Amino acid sequence: MTGPGDGSSTPSGAGDGRAGDDRARELRGRLDAVRERIASAAGAAGRDEPRLIVVTKYFPASDLRILVDLGVTDVGENRDQEASGKAAELEGLLTWHFIGQLQTNKARSVVRYAHSVHSVDRASLVTALGKAVAADRHERAAGGSGTPAELECFLQFDLDRAAVAGGRGGALPADAVALAETLAGTPGLRLAGVMAVAPLGAPPAAAFEQLRRISETVRTVDAAATSISAGMSGDLEEAVAAGTTHLRIGSDVLGPRPGVG
Ligand SMILES: *Cc1c(COP(=O)(O)O)cnc(C)c1O
Repeated sequence: MTGPGDGSSTPSGAGDGRAGDDRARELRGRLDAVRERIASAAGAAGRDEPRLIVVTKYFPASDLRILVDLGVTDVGENRDQEASGKAAELEGLLTWHFIGQLQTNKARSVVRYAHSVHSVDRASLVTALGKAVAADRHERAAGGSGTPAELECFLQFDLDRAAVAGGRGGALPADAVALAETLAGTPGLRLAGVMAVAPLGAPPAAAFEQLRRISETVRTVDAAATSISAGMSGDLEEAVAAGTTHLRIGSDVLGPRPGVG
């Protein structure tokens, strides 16, 4: 068995004190570097700094505790089973953003812990989320706890020109108005804005410019839907220059994802 200070090596992520300290130092260094990049990109673009969502998928709850100590307030997850477990472990310490493709049958679970869903890409999911929020409120009222705020929803668009609808996730830009109207008309959901992942193999700046135009279209439906969720580790500077309001940064804060490389 290993214990604090016994000098034996432990796999990363184990509860060992020394390994934990090393991991805390590593995360602090990475997070500081990302925060500096964001500040300098925002300065260069003359924009306000966007909200930083640290994408913690595949990383253990012990890493999230370190992030809380480092002042991180928002985390992103893309699988319900993993996210719901971590949210239960870290109850009340973080704001949870669901950023992955979402099956309608997972909506009930996701609304229990998520503050926002960034991956709303079809009308059937809007309907499922609306029903899930209503059921969640009913449950909370019956249990004597207060009504939570509305679920913040981002419409995710597929900016890949070669994409077939329903392929990698994300609605077609041509469906923006119809989807925005559906979402804006669903009680319990708040249309926050738009979201996209820049396509591989193309300059991200052009994709983010396209997303900005889609955002303008969505705002013709709801003028308050001003949020733009864009920018990952590899393209955060381009996203900030294009006016993103929510950055989703994973590997540059946490390191390479386990088992993903
Ligand atoms: C994993 C993921 C991210 C984070 O990507 P990194 O390149 O690790 O920063 C952002 N957005 C979505 C939708 C993701 O699935």
